[in-house]
Amino acid sequence: MTVLVLIEHDRGSLNPASLEALTAARAIDPQIEALTLGAAADGLAGELAANGAAVVHQVHADLLSDYGPEAWGEATAQAVRALKPDAVLACGTERGNEVMAQAAARLDLPMVANCIEFVPGDTWTITRVRWGGSLLEQCTLSATTKLVTVAHHAFEATPSQAAGTVAPLPMTLDPALARTVVADRVERAAGVTLATAPLVVGGGRAVGSAEAFAPLEELAARLGGVVGCSRAVTNNGWRNHTDQVGQTGTRIAPDLYIACGISGAIQHWVGAMASKKILAINTDPEANMVAKADYAVIGDLHKVVPAITAEIIRRRG
Ligand SMILES: Cc1cc2nc3c(=O)[nH]c(=O)nc-3n(C[C@H](O)[C@H](O)[C@H](O)COP(=O)(O)OP(=O)(O)OC[C@H]3O[C@@H](n4cnc5c(N)ncnc54)[C@H](O)[C@@H]3O)c2cc1C
Repeated sequence: MTVLVLIEHDRGSLNPASLEALTAARAIDPQIEALTLGAAADGLAGELAANGAAVVHQVHADLLSDYGPEAWGEATAQAVRALKPDAVLACGTERGNEVMAQAAARLDLPMVANCIEFVPGDTWTITRVRWGGSLLEQCTLSATTKLVTVAHHAFEATPSQAAGTVAPLPMTLDPALARTVVADRVERAAGVTLATAPLVVGGGRAVGSAEAFAPLEELAARLGGVVGCSRAVTNNGWRNHTDQVGQTGTRIAPDLYIACGISGAIQHWVGAMASKKILAINTDPEANMVAKADYAVIGDLHKVVPAITAEIIRRRG
């Protein structure tokens, strides 16, 4: 069986979710291949080999230097026609799902998004997440080439050294495919991002104002983490949507999530549930977040958060 993994990157900067897709692919067949689109991704070949790619197919075309769903989808479709893999996996990120949907439409094949488990065979049995993770759905997939995306954080990326033989894959792309292309990038805060931070301090409606996030910022900074928030906070304009955790925000998977004054509504929970440990700080012992947390402090976040910071300062001298 040939399993091809479409690698997501932005101008050569690898999306770590691709390493999860490589790990998921190795569970189907230990011998996997990778597909990179755009010359900027050539430098990733070593890392892909270290994560199990026996062959790295590289496509070079000017149209692929910046992300564009039509061009990337067509390039993926052409790669499927040329390489005839049994399956293609990609990350279940916005871009991964978009490109695979484009490829599926061009190949007239079905595609299954956000999968967390596969049982391969002539027909695959697949479990996938729906409704932002609040529902698990089992489905079967029969097609000449199975097109599947892997739900983010469903597999832990583990390295596995393979040959990583580089194989250029020539193709011609119609310039008309440049209908939607990333034109500009706005640099977010330097350092760790919400999606990859090892520690997140989340603030909810109870924080009360944009300025009142300062103690949460200080705690996060002292612990090497970042601040996230609930939708009540972004709706109030206290923080940018880029900081929102949840179904319509970012899925986080830190070692520790400190949820301050957050009720734990299902739409928030689906973005936080991959956290390894959760500490809830809440005045309501019955709050969902308290019930689901590993640890809880029942109290006023405006007193508890500064007290934790003060204790950290005291212990570190
Ligand atoms: C389609 C859809 C998508 C959505 N997507 C998202 C999403 O991506 N992310 C998201 O977060 N929400 C999302 N929501 C909104 C979600 O349903 C909740 O309304 C929201 O998460 C509530 O935010 P909150 O927990 O900050 O506020 P609340 O629900 O008001 O909770 C505030 C909490 O603070 C506690 N509290 C009060 N005072 C204090 C204090 N002094 N100290 C400590 N605790 C205190 C309360 O006990 C309560 O538990 C979505 C909703 C819909 C319909």
